[in-house]
Amino acid sequence: MLAPPSAGFRRLLPLLQPHRRSLVAGWLCTLVFVVCWPLLAWLAGQLIPAIGAGDFNRVLQVVGLALSVFLLQKLAQFGQDTLLADPALQVSQELRRRLFARLQRLEFGALEKLSSGDLTYRLTEDADRVGEVIYKTIQDTTPSALQLMVVFGYMVWLDWKLSVGTLLLAPLVAVLVSLFGARVMGAAERSQKQVSELAALLAEAIGGLPLVRAFAAEPWLQRRFDTEIDLHRRARYRTQQLLALQYPVVGFLEAAGILAVLLMGAARIQAGELTGQGFSSYVAALLMLIDPISHLTTNYNEFQQGQASLRRLRQIEQEAVEPPDRADARALGQVHGELVLEGVGFGYDPAQPVLQDLDLRIAPGQVVALVGPSGAGKSTLFSLLLRFNTAQRGRLLLDGQDLADLRAAELRRAVALVPQQSNVFSGTVAEAIAFGRPVSREQIRAAAQLANADGFIEALPGGYDSRVEERGSNFSGGQLQRLAIARAVLGDPAILLLDEATSALDAESEQAVQRGLDQAMAGRTVLVIAHRLSTVQEADRIVVLEQGRIVDQGSHDLLISRPGRYRDLCERQLIRGAS
Ligand code: ADP
Repeated sequence: MLAPPSAGFRRLLPLLQPHRRSLVAGWLCTLVFVVCWPLLAWLAGQLIPAIGAGDFNRVLQVVGLALSVFLLQKLAQFGQDTLLADPALQVSQELRRRLFARLQRLEFGALEKLSSGDLTYRLTEDADRVGEVIYKTIQDTTPSALQLMVVFGYMVWLDWKLSVGTLLLAPLVAVLVSLFGARVMGAAERSQKQVSELAALLAEAIGGLPLVRAFAAEPWLQRRFDTEIDLHRRARYRTQQLLALQYPVVGFLEAAGILAVLLMGAARIQAGELTGQGFSSYVAALLMLIDPISHLTTNYNEFQQGQASLRRLRQIEQEAVEPPDRADARALGQVHGELVLEGVGFGYDPAQPVLQDLDLRIAPGQVVALVGPSGAGKSTLFSLLLRFNTAQRGRLLLDGQDLADLRAAELRRAVALVPQQSNVFSGTVAEAIAFGRPVSREQIRAAAQLANADGFIEALPGGYDSRVEERGSNFSGGQLQRLAIARAVLGDPAILLLDEATSALDAESEQAVQRGLDQAMAGRTVLVIAHRLSTVQEADRIVVLEQGRIVDQGSHDLLISRPGRYRDLCERQLIRGAS
């Protein structure tokens, strides 16, 4: 899809494929536009001697003709600009769409590695820059290159020897331009890296502002920020310096070149090999080269900067994505909800196991509470059950089928998660519960009723159409939890993974959430990371996890009756409500 550093933008070409028609039509207009230039140069050659000779009729005739050519040219330019703008913008939109799709499929490990600020920068600024290059290439670089060729072709036709002389000057400019181009590119890359580091720091700072204030660490953060923006400014300045140097140098070279051509032309006329008229046309054509050359130079710089951006986008592409379903993946069918773990072992780094030799058998409809100190591997077990990660050893079976053999999307419909932090997406309440699934209002309401959320939703001024702000900031913690429960039970999953919130709610909210949970859990297999005494007391079984191993299991009454890890956990109040 995207380009490797070497092939650059070339590999984006297939994205143009669907827009062939507009492109061909647009470039036909370009052709008309550029062919007008030699015509105008020829007319200029006619005009100057006619003015010199005082032949007013001829002057009128030529001016009239020139006016018509100009009109035709501008019409063609309009056609070109409108016809080419659409495919150019479509291609950059498609690029962005694909990147986002890729982002959604990235492995969680890869996502954690890239900071959210940096990713946001890549998907906005870098994608913009690449989009701009695509736009310029279609809309400006191609027409300019064509203009260069056509106009220069005309000059060769007028006097090839003089053109050879002119051409000899060109490599000088070219060498200088590319020399600068490479340096500008390096500087641009450094400058973009700085911006994305700045974005990352900002994202971190904004998220952690309360913490910073709590520790009175503002001066420290300000210093860090100051250093970062200083580096950013320097990197930007370096790029600007290079650009500032480039334009005058190239400009001066152009001027000197034109003067040299004038000298050569004078010599050719003296030698009797070129007419004054021909030379007038030649000079007019030469002037017509300046514009496309300067466009090409500018675009070349942008192209270089765009390549740096493209490379950064390409890095997202190189991050690992979730492995696709197996070609022979099985359909899940009716799910009963039996979960079996056989000798499961997993480590984010395979050399450091996080889960070891897990054997567990959970019958359909059973409620199993997972308890254990932080870092014991409880969330990791959830991530295996959702197939966010894949066990390196052993098997996880759902109704006797290996999770690895199932289609991920089907598995995730059968296994629903109520996360610890009930982050709901912004939109309406109904949308937050539906979460993109094609369901009716009745189904949403039924899910909300199960989650004990219907009451407070109906009491809102807009009911189910009330707005949920970003991160659900206009709802209370207990309400958000109930929305998250409703979202989870909406698809009627056979298995519920519940990550109990560690922070306490007030008694009333707690009760409301508990009621929602009780109703939501009924008839489902439930695995709950438990922090509350009431949860563990009601569970069919408690599994105590420590350092990735099951160290004890049984009912609350059994486990509390004997010394052991569970009693320790209760005594250390890691299970809330226990004393
Ligand atoms: P718990 O949920 O019981 O607190 P976790 O499953 O979150 O425990 O973590 C178990 C171990 O795995 C911890 O040592 C933790 O540092 C590590 N861990 C958790 N998530 C990741 C991750 N994405 N990458 C690497 N290590 C991780």
